Amino acid sequence: STTLKVALLGAGTVGTEVARILDQDAAALTQRAGARLRLSAVVVRDTAADRGPHVPRELITDQAEDAIDGADLVIELMGGIEPARTYITRALSNGASVVTGNKALLAAHGAELFALAKDNDAQLSFEAAVAGAIPILRPLAESLAGDTITKVMGIVNGSTNYILDKMDREGADLADVMAEAAALGFLEADPSADVEGHDAAAKAALLATLAFGAGFSIDQVHTEGITGVSATDVEAARAEDQVIKLLAIVERSEGGVQMRVHPTLISREHPLAAVHGAFNAVFVEAENAGQLMFYGAGAGGAPTASAVMGDLVTAARRSLAGAPDHTVLSATAVPALPIEDAITRY
Ligand code: NDP
Repeated sequence: STTLKVALLGAGTVGTEVARILDQDAAALTQRAGARLRLSAVVVRDTAADRGPHVPRELITDQAEDAIDGADLVIELMGGIEPARTYITRALSNGASVVTGNKALLAAHGAELFALAKDNDAQLSFEAAVAGAIPILRPLAESLAGDTITKVMGIVNGSTNYILDKMDREGADLADVMAEAAALGFLEADPSADVEGHDAAAKAALLATLAFGAGFSIDQVHTEGITGVSATDVEAARAEDQVIKLLAIVERSEGGVQMRVHPTLISREHPLAAVHGAFNAVFVEAENAGQLMFYGAGAGGAPTASAVMGDLVTAARRSLAGAPDHTVLSATAVPALPIEDAITRY
């Protein structure tokens, strides 16, 4: 049977789990993809470090260009803008399809990369970039392609949901919960991208891109994080049978699409109110489907690798069938309405 060579750029939390699945589930993946998916190189910075039993030592390299040029499919799990952008550009220019979980890169430079993929008849897929394991991007772009999506509201940052949930349950202060979350490893070393809403904003841009079929970028998203939310706010919400969640909201609005991230008051009866701990959920409204909700693990090695592998198998199938799909560009962004309060009622 056909063999497709897979280069893995990055072997950290998610990359090592992708390598594990490629190894442990090789037979099933061959069946599902219609080709053998063979790991051909694993690119890291520190080539001396042990990457566990599923990353063969002889595949580990710091020569990214060679690894990319020798691959049919490229998985980028390094994170950050550079060199990820250069490497993905190289892979797509070679005609190789790329799977990535890099929301920061796509939210800033997605349009250029999607155009490059199209020019080269390659696919650029990124299900893992929003809400980890939750299949949400393909449902928005494909399953709902025959419907009109009007609004998407997501809890797409697990760290801030964990913090707000803990404040709600224990009446604790933001600073205390953050210190505890950091000690437990639930927070990044630099938590600002999470607590200031930038991570959620990157995901809002990607959700809008898929839901509304246009290229949106993070700088078009009105962004407010959770740093202004106090124990008093949480208590006041509770007294009214409401809860504060950090939501990424993208919706059709007069003349375009509005994108915003901010702490939002929602009724305890809303399905998003039942999303606890570090879980993620995305609530979708479409003209004919009505209301839908997608729920699951928004991060973690194996859950995120599940989304990466789904994209990889799909990319393999399409490369064998020779029928790539393309993002359609058809809508424009409008500025979000000004937000009066630290917490918006919804
Ligand atoms: P890690 O930091 O755990 O791993 C990054 C890997 O990339 C490491 O192996 C690192 O090498 C390698 N790397 C980084 N920079 C370079 C470089 N310049 N050249 C070569 N190799 C490099 O990241 P994660 O696995 O957590 O995340 C990967 C991607 O997935 C990110 O884009 C992230 O946003 C996304 N993602 C992650 C989720 C998660 O739960 N972790 C959830 C959803 C998305 P070395 O080990 O030698 O330093």
